[in-house]
Amino acid sequence: MVCPKCGLETEDAKNFCEQCGFDFREIKTQENLLETDPVLVSMNNQYIRYGIVRLIAGVVTLACLFLIYQWLENNIWDGFGDIGLLFFLPALIVFIVFSVLRGSVKKKIQRELINRTPKNTHDHNSPKL
Ligand SMILES: [Zn+2]
Repeated sequence: MVCPKCGLETEDAKNFCEQCGFDFREIKTQENLLETDPVLVSMNNQYIRYGIVRLIAGVVTLACLFLIYQWLENNIWDGFGDIGLLFFLPALIVFIVFSVLRGSVKKKIQRELINRTPKNTHDHNSPKL
């Protein structure tokens, strides 16, 4: 496991980072919740789906830019420009909308994780920072 705080690689079995004392148990609990808690699993799946839509829309946006560029620069075929201009804006809008949706789902997941992580993982063994 790589420490998210200092970047040191530590054995998975260890509960604390050897360098900075970061508590890995919280991450392990959260990873476990993401795989087992039905609400979090469905949120996580939603996050992944939004990510896929966003990726496709991003690729289409770039492809449209490429077609428009080909049309303007090389004047190969007017169809390139037509297709590019037709799909560029819708693809860009879908990309932006799903980026925002994905971000809000991510925030929701983080809030849920904080709510569901037991307080006792912050026990007296954690170093005061
Ligand atoms: Zn560390």
